[in-house]
Amino acid sequence: MRRLLIIGTGGTISCGKTENGLAPAFGITELLAAAGLDGRADIVSEQLFGLDSTNMTPRHWEKLARRIVQRYDEFDGFVITHGTDTMAYAAASLSCLIQNSRKPIVFTGSMKPMTDEDSDAPKNLRDAVKFAVDERAFGVRVVFCGEIIDGRCAHKWDTDTVDPYESVNNEDYGYFWHDGKIAFGEEYSGETRFYEHLSDDVFLIKLIPGQGLYVPENTKALILESYGSGGVPDYLLDEVTKLAGKGVYVIIATQCPYGGTHLNEYEVGQYAARVCPLLETGKMTVEYAVARARWALAYSDNFEDFKRLFNDG
Ligand code: ASP
Repeated sequence: MRRLLIIGTGGTISCGKTENGLAPAFGITELLAAAGLDGRADIVSEQLFGLDSTNMTPRHWEKLARRIVQRYDEFDGFVITHGTDTMAYAAASLSCLIQNSRKPIVFTGSMKPMTDEDSDAPKNLRDAVKFAVDERAFGVRVVFCGEIIDGRCAHKWDTDTVDPYESVNNEDYGYFWHDGKIAFGEEYSGETRFYEHLSDDVFLIKLIPGQGLYVPENTKALILESYGSGGVPDYLLDEVTKLAGKGVYVIIATQCPYGGTHLNEYEVGQYAARVCPLLETGKMTVEYAVARARWALAYSDNFEDFKRLFNDG
């Protein structure tokens, strides 16, 4: 029988009503019982955090990855219940810390607390478990509302529906048919690589037309969320070039959720890339670009190495 470790971290799925609004109140054992998953010999659970995911930071995701690595050989798969607000950042971070995982590491949660009568929580949790115990499953995934999304591609795009995630610039890795069967994507190949650290020295600035550039002192990698295909406004080019000259790695992203950057397409991108060493996010989500930059920064000490690590994933 396949063995699963289910780790609770908080989020709406675990929330109860308080006079100050929803807040995490229930532990993972209560969630498993409510979803009808308790008492199964192949499931072990533990509570790592009890947080609204608004309060999650890279330190929490490093700790989560460490815990999974400590127990990697004991289990066939891992399910993490997590708040939806930063789940895309969490899945992106875990995708960098445990790369090409042979075993499934599955994030799920819900938009309505488990205790609500019409909650999406029981189905999401059951789907996540069903996927994680399947021997074809691998990699970091977000399982939500019948979809199975690559952890590098998830983006929360809606605050009001029970289907808040999109797989950006990539089809869903898999999904659940109406009869509960699972449609899987590609098969596993290669090997799993484990890492421990994410740097704190990555900053992201969303450009708005006319705004200056105010960059914190400790910035080592700067993601500029530019417009459309990507470019640097003429009025910021001196500032960006100066930052690059001081050793800051500058990465151009786009505010468009789909399509990605194509820095070479327009003069505002091509010219900027000629006068200054720029990287671009291409088809990465912003969440994954942030995680990738944090990881690449932690494991490189020069621009060429950073560039290779940032681009190779
Ligand atoms: N604020 C909640 C959280 O991210 C939202 C949710 O889980 O849906 O923890």
